[in-house]
Amino acid sequence: MQQNQMKLEFDSRSCNEGFARVAVAAFMTQLNPTLEEVADVKTAVSEAVTNAIIHAYEGKVRTIVISCRIEGEELYVEVQDFGRGIPDVALAMQPLYTTKAECDRAGMGFAFMEAFMDHVEVTSVPGEGTQVRMTKRISHDREE
Ligand code: ATP
Ligand code: MG
Repeated sequence: MQQNQMKLEFDSRSCNEGFARVAVAAFMTQLNPTLEEVADVKTAVSEAVTNAIIHAYEGKVRTIVISCRIEGEELYVEVQDFGRGIPDVALAMQPLYTTKAECDRAGMGFAFMEAFMDHVEVTSVPGEGTQVRMTKRISHDREE
């Protein structure tokens, strides 16, 4: 079974959102994904990183950590921040729920992550930070 892992640590600057999503996309190419699967993962990573930048740190520059792992056909992606945390995760994950409606947020970030990944699990401690763990199976019988 193929196994691999990587970990990235970067500043919570909005210019790093594109970097993070491309880095995860590059890492997953060894699974021989379709363009659609790469686009799905990029969208999910982008949503999670944007949430860390705007909600967890509210514009302050702190650290975001992305850990990725491949085990067989399974891709694991974890996006972690050390920001203000989420008091009620189940509520926050409901489609259209947002605490920043005044900033034209739609409240759809978690809904997109759930739509584009197979599994999304969020753990958060108010005042300590948030971890978003996502998995997606990339399985093909395509020839190399
Ligand atoms: P959109 O993603 O559509 O622009 P949104 O970011 O408000 O809007 P979600 O991504 O679904 O919507 O997040 C819902 C809510 O969960 C946010 O409004 C925020 O209150 C909270 N939240 C999400 N991620 C974090 C985080 N990393 N730290 C603190 N709060 C968060
Ligand atoms: Mg969001």
